[in-house]
Amino acid sequence: MALKIGITGGIGSGKSVVCEIFALLGVPVFNSDLEGRSILETDAKVVAAVKEIFGAEAYTEDGKPDRIRIASLAFADKEKLKRLNAVVHPAVAERFHNWLAQHSDADYVVKEAAVLVESGAYKEMDHVVLVSAPEELKRSRAAKRDHLTLAEVDKRSRNQMKETDLAKYAQFVIRNDEAELLIPQVLKLHALFKKEAKLKKN
Ligand code: ATP
Repeated sequence: MALKIGITGGIGSGKSVVCEIFALLGVPVFNSDLEGRSILETDAKVVAAVKEIFGAEAYTEDGKPDRIRIASLAFADKEKLKRLNAVVHPAVAERFHNWLAQHSDADYVVKEAAVLVESGAYKEMDHVVLVSAPEELKRSRAAKRDHLTLAEVDKRSRNQMKETDLAKYAQFVIRNDEAELLIPQVLKLHALFKKEAKLKKN
């Protein structure tokens, strides 16, 4: 069984950039956010549950989830958000387990998730890595990438944990503050995880 490394961090921290470097090193990467989006579209049980929570209008006529509508309803109503998470998180976990079984030969795998801690998924990781960046930098990166105002970015990150709280769950931190270089930090962790995986196998 491969070692499981969870990678988390706030919006705009640079999780995806960090995971791209791991992927370049040949490490299998599971992107929880992308899987969650796909589940919302293709998993019949999830689609039915989401319609029950948010109404049939949560999906467009051609069967695509209206993600803007779902997000705005969920962020305006904590109870609905909780129900949505209770449907999506277990479905993502199931996909992750199937995916993991297909990568059992790898030394280690990476699970990227913005809500790794909030979803409870961190519990089954061997290690959690936090991608850290100054608040202002995270906000401006996310705003630029998604063509949003800073206020819109803040709305999206309101339901996420603060970095200082996330740090309590992380054994390793990658600083993505544009002062420290990313690649050497990832290479250092890569060597460490490979070594731990070898020790585990022997
Ligand atoms: P989200 O949770 O919103 O998906 P994320 O943590 O995955 O965010 P990324 O998408 O990796 O964040 O990075 C946010 C933006 O900042 C991207 O446009 C990315 O290219 C840019 N970025 C991240 N790190 C750096 C860096 N070190 N130098 C320059 N640009 C960066």
